[in-house]
Amino acid sequence: MAERPEISVVIPAYNEEANVVPMYERVTAALDGVAGSFEIVFVDDGSQDGTWDAISGLARGDARIRGIRFARNFGHQAAVTAGIDAARGEAAVIIDADLQDPPEVIPELIAKWREGFEVVYAQREAREGESWFKKATAAAFYRTLRAITNVDIPVDTGDFRLMGPRALEAFRALDERNRFIRGLVSWVGFEQTGVRYHRQARHAGETKYPLKKMVRFAIDGITSFSFVPLRLATWLGFAVSALAFVYILVVIGLKLAGINWPGYTSLMASILFLGGVQLIMIGILGEYLGRVFDEVKHRPLYLVGESTDHTVGVLGRGSSRPHPNGPKPDGT
Ligand code: UDP
Ligand code: MG
Repeated sequence: MAERPEISVVIPAYNEEANVVPMYERVTAALDGVAGSFEIVFVDDGSQDGTWDAISGLARGDARIRGIRFARNFGHQAAVTAGIDAARGEAAVIIDADLQDPPEVIPELIAKWREGFEVVYAQREAREGESWFKKATAAAFYRTLRAITNVDIPVDTGDFRLMGPRALEAFRALDERNRFIRGLVSWVGFEQTGVRYHRQARHAGETKYPLKKMVRFAIDGITSFSFVPLRLATWLGFAVSALAFVYILVVIGLKLAGINWPGYTSLMASILFLGGVQLIMIGILGEYLGRVFDEVKHRPLYLVGESTDHTVGVLGRGSSRPHPNGPKPDGT
């Protein structure tokens, strides 16, 4: 088995056939001479195009390339998790497959790590080739999330980052289903710092994050790292009750004074308003409850169809086979 490399580069890829080879070329060019040794772990998240052929072709020609192919599409966050689980490097870098995150930034991440930081995240100071809608919603989302959580999640930061050995060990122990990886990595703590970079336009293909997935991802982030939406019900309940109490006094006062208003409009208004508020709050409860249900079912986070070096079992992290990186039975 190969020596343990210094750096693992983890690349989740879903229908990225035109990006795999350019990605490989740019990562290897960026890391040659910088990292002592490295491996690239491509995770094919159930692609329907030629992504797997491209990955396995690379793996045949270059021993530093490893590929893991999911049994179906399990999603970006599961793919990143599988890559981290399988990574053998001392440190690991997560990077998108579409060249939006320039591989040339990786040496900067490594330099910071060598300075002593355990987690080095890449923070985008500009984004090219993305719609104003995506940029505006992303900016609003990261700021809202920061405002309602105690975890120090940096704004404008995706999953493009480096994790050192302690952060990796901690991350691998996290077993939750609806994963918001950028939050989880902040949550583990240690010495963290950021490096700023320009996010490029996609090299080829389309975004794999349509609005529906973006919304789901945002709700995962909020529900995983904040109870504030649940508390909203309590606050709203108190506020509405206080207002109602005042209004009841007014109504009784008017009644005693012999003034009787026809009440259709105010009745309708309050019924509709309260009905709406209650449904929203039940919806919020449902979001949390559904996620609790996912946790309780405890299904595997992902299933592996095949891997180029046959080291990753079907169950990946849940496998009863020893993790290739883990301690051996004799304790070494
Ligand atoms: N991705 C994935 N599984 C998915 C969706 C996306 O592995 O179900 C990968 C995708 O191939 C890319 C990364 O996750 O490497 C980020 O996705 P994308 O570039 O489409 O998102 P965007 O940059 O538009 O937010
Ligand atoms: Mg992208």
